[in-house]
Amino acid sequence: MISKKVVKLINQQITMEAESSAIYLAMATWADHHAFRGTAAFMYKQAEEERSHMYKFIHFLNEVGEHAEIDGFKAPKANYDGIAEVFEASLGHERKVTASIHNIMTVARSENDYAVTSFLKWFIDEQVEEEATAQQALDIVKMAGKVSLYLADKEIGAMKGAK
Ligand code: MG
Repeated sequence: MISKKVVKLINQQITMEAESSAIYLAMATWADHHAFRGTAAFMYKQAEEERSHMYKFIHFLNEVGEHAEIDGFKAPKANYDGIAEVFEASLGHERKVTASIHNIMTVARSENDYAVTSFLKWFIDEQVEEEATAQQALDIVKMAGKVSLYLADKEIGAMKGAK
């Protein structure tokens, strides 16, 4: 028997996963529209993954005889200044998701709810991976910025005026 408090938190998490999926879908279409095909592919896949997370929470609540409820959320950000901003936002969002899942775990542990704590373990591990992936992508974007600056500087050095 899961407490009403934990059921409410898991229902809020269902909304958060749905919102995550919409955020990544919006990032994907923005990237696609601005010819960042790799980032678009990455974000379309992320959006699908978040949807599968939402389903995991829904099925868990249904399995334990509780009502998984579907709520709304605000429209995701549609425009970005560049892919650095996309991955910064993605990392920031994943950190919020991690904090939210940790909070459910804290409450479930305080209630000695073994079913919920066991179920949440997968998500705790998943969030370590999600944050690492977002950080790695951001690192790549930042590195690319330096490489293109280096290439631009080299190009300027090769111009007639520099000789
Ligand atoms: Mg997720």
